[in-house]
Amino acid sequence: MPDFSIGVDLGGTNLRIAAVSGEGELLEKLTFGSQGAPSRDQVIDQMCEAIQLLSGKYKPAGKFLGAGIGIPGIVDLQTGMLRKSANLPGWEEYPVRAEIERRLGARVVLENDANVAALGEQWLGAARGIENMAVVTLGTGIGGGIVLGGKIWHGMNGMAGEFGHVTIERDGHPCGCGSRGCAEQYASASAIVRMAREAIASGDAPSLAKAASSDAAFSAELIYKLAIQGDEHARRIFCSFGRALGVLLAGMVNVLNLEMFVLGGGVSTAWDAYAPDMFEELRERSLVYAATAPPDPLRNGALEKKGASPHTANRRERTTTITRALLGSDAGLYGAARGAMLAG
Ligand SMILES: [Zn+2]
Repeated sequence: MPDFSIGVDLGGTNLRIAAVSGEGELLEKLTFGSQGAPSRDQVIDQMCEAIQLLSGKYKPAGKFLGAGIGIPGIVDLQTGMLRKSANLPGWEEYPVRAEIERRLGARVVLENDANVAALGEQWLGAARGIENMAVVTLGTGIGGGIVLGGKIWHGMNGMAGEFGHVTIERDGHPCGCGSRGCAEQYASASAIVRMAREAIASGDAPSLAKAASSDAAFSAELIYKLAIQGDEHARRIFCSFGRALGVLLAGMVNVLNLEMFVLGGGVSTAWDAYAPDMFEELRERSLVYAATAPPDPLRNGALEKKGASPHTANRRERTTTITRALLGSDAGLYGAARGAMLAG
């Protein structure tokens, strides 16, 4: 009978809770929507009830190894409080971990969502079997997590891995964090839409202007569709995105010299539109990457089948692999469960 833990993925729109065995088998998953915009206390109630339900159900079969919770925002590891969260208004400076522990009568692990997603990909996803790796999540913004020796690298108090706010343009576009020229201003879904709107405003991207006026949801996905259909302006935006991501990755590869960098998040799926420029930039800018690049780097991200093993081959050759995430939105759920196992 399997020992198990509970992983929680608290997103801006969904609350998902899963019982996962020590071998990484999903035993059961519960999903709650955010209809009616539940308050913070209602969400915590719902979460604690679901954790108790699942742990009670599987306890007769195996040992309960604890609960791990991935939460969007900067988590202070010492206090278990949320320092900053764009997606959870009203949760900041609130003792989230202490409150959940009080209700459950048990210790829980509270982590930043990108950190648990990195741990999930390392445990069961693209970097399975690779001890040292990082995940860069390309969504509305950019998130990230670093795993060293099979464990999340937290930095001093849990704030490590803020890849989105690494400066890649000294006098660049202002960022919500207060700085300028941050990576997420150039290589995120919101950056793609902003660049498209800038091109439209300049008057020389009529195809984008037409798409924007005929589709109320003018999104990065729509611009990607135009790019793969060959639209020149849309293609240029993804080239620029790939270049920016290449600059960010070059810095990370030079500093960390990890075996694998996994690109996750919604925009990472536009791989064919941005990856060639990303690799070109990376090779030009990083001496470490140039010395450790695999012979056909584009192939790694094109492989989507689980069980495909380009990484295993690369590892033997000690190369730097840049590839796409495999677990999608489940990475955080598995990673949160794994975090509880490692802490237990
Ligand atoms: Zn920033």
